[in-house]
Amino acid sequence: MKAPRLPIALQQAAMRSLRHYLHIANLHFKREFPEPSLIYQQRGTSAGTAWLERWEIRLNPVLLQENQQAFVDEVVPHELAHLLVWKVFGRVAPHGKEWKWMMETVLGVPARRTHKFETTSVRSATFAYRCQCQQHNLTVRRHNRVVRGEAEYRCVHCSTILKPGEFQPDDSSAP
Ligand SMILES: [Zn+2]
Ligand SMILES: [Zn+2]
Repeated sequence: MKAPRLPIALQQAAMRSLRHYLHIANLHFKREFPEPSLIYQQRGTSAGTAWLERWEIRLNPVLLQENQQAFVDEVVPHELAHLLVWKVFGRVAPHGKEWKWMMETVLGVPARRTHKFETTSVRSATFAYRCQCQQHNLTVRRHNRVVRGEAEYRCVHCSTILKPGEFQPDDSSAP
């Protein structure tokens, strides 16, 4: 998957949010936390991740573009809180009472553990195929090769050729 080009204004908005919440934390703890690096390399369905030792926050560029306000308001402080908790308390449960306190009392952001984003665009599409024994989920690439007649795939268990469609277990053989 190629990383989509991320508008510079959006990167600036994420950075502003990071600096804003970092400033709040600095005031609260009366210290200067170093500024974490913000990178846009998170893949898959997670909105973001916090890399503690690296002092780094990775944001999902696709979900960021689709949920700009939620990232600025919640995802950035959520991940920053993980870093701050690690610096202040050491290694504790990721969404435990320290994190909740950091979010709500220090940063003033509702402490939601997960973000509910529409993730259709970042889920890799698969196509259902079946053999005689089970369902197989083929990637788009493999599915296209089958459609174009360039390839056939066989089940490694029953050796039959995979056909498009969902596998229906044969209930008649059930005891
Ligand atoms: Zn988290
Ligand atoms: Zn099979």
